[in-house]
Amino acid sequence: MTMSLSTTSHGTTATSAAQQPDWQDGDLLDHVRRRLRDLPGLTTEDEVGELERALAGAARGEALVLQGGDCAERFHDAVPDRVRRKLDHLQGLASVLRAGTGLGVVPVGRMAGQYAKPRSDPYETLPDGRRVPSYRGDAVNDPAADPVLRAADPTRLVDAYDCSRAVLGAVRASWAGRQAGERVYTAHELLLLPYEESLVRTGKRGDYAASTHFGWIGARTSAPDGAHVGLAASVHNPVGVKIGPRTSPAHAVELVRRLNPDAVPGRLTFIVRMGAEQLDSALPPLVEAVAAGGIPVVWLSDPMHGNTYRAPGGAKTRSLSAMRAETEAFVRVLREHRQWPAGLHLELTPDPVTECVDVPETATGRLVFPHYRSVCDPRLNPAQAEQLVHAFLRLL
Ligand code: PEP
Ligand code: MN
Repeated sequence: MTMSLSTTSHGTTATSAAQQPDWQDGDLLDHVRRRLRDLPGLTTEDEVGELERALAGAARGEALVLQGGDCAERFHDAVPDRVRRKLDHLQGLASVLRAGTGLGVVPVGRMAGQYAKPRSDPYETLPDGRRVPSYRGDAVNDPAADPVLRAADPTRLVDAYDCSRAVLGAVRASWAGRQAGERVYTAHELLLLPYEESLVRTGKRGDYAASTHFGWIGARTSAPDGAHVGLAASVHNPVGVKIGPRTSPAHAVELVRRLNPDAVPGRLTFIVRMGAEQLDSALPPLVEAVAAGGIPVVWLSDPMHGNTYRAPGGAKTRSLSAMRAETEAFVRVLREHRQWPAGLHLELTPDPVTECVDVPETATGRLVFPHYRSVCDPRLNPAQAEQLVHAFLRLL
């Protein structure tokens, strides 16, 4: 795990931060930080507040949430027609849930900033045996397996800002004529501290992350005393934390205490990603401990990240049957504890890709993946996403 010193918007601290790239040029990074601090915030405090109010409905069990988008967004997709396709896709899935339940559904895109990836292995071994730094998202390096292009380049943080702004422009254009409750909001993983800290802005209600509407903390950076949780605690946006099979009840309770001390409904979302096999044993004690504290939390199921495996040919994939099983177990456990299963967090694309598979893991031996385009994790294609959303709907 990469550790580094980090700087907060309020000054320099020596908090250790997990999953930070090994930036090649420290002076250039400082220059980029100053540049980002001088640029306008991308989101407004009013938008962030509207999303929090919409999520408050989900915290009270009166609305649903559908978060979705690419695992790793690409800079070259920051063009209006690509963004519109993604928005139409998310809106279509949200309408399935709306029509099926009569409830409000808040669509939230993994978009307009989902340019940074945590990696389990900082290096990737190429077929010829060479080792190159792993791809960490377009905000850090290039997916091409070339040692020069894989160096962490701070100027990419400015490109990430520009592309996020372009995507957000297309998102706002889609809001015309829609009520606040029917808009798609933006979200990404709060991972790269020099970027996120430089985009904290001070509004009427205090500091907020002006890089996005909703920011989440990944499973690898969720230490309650770590720099990422510290950043999320210092801003008033709605925030999420990925909850994995090794998150203990005490850890979850501490996250609630640090991230939602004022018990604001809609402020904190737990995105459960345990894996179909672990969820039944790992989730009940955690839900029980959080519910006992009485502080509202929005519970979402990410049935994807705990069910990733490599197919025999080497492709990273996930089977729909495992994802369905995790979603089912999630809804059952939440219901047993009288908590509201508020929705799904999915990696999906409007493109007809073949990245996830429709068959159980045991039957993937001879599979080929002719349209594998993701530079990171496997996404659901439109038919697969619809199947999963329908499966969730039937459980409600
Ligand atoms: C992701 O959402 O792409 C991700 C890396 O998830 P997690 O932190 O849950 O592994
Ligand atoms: Mn992913």
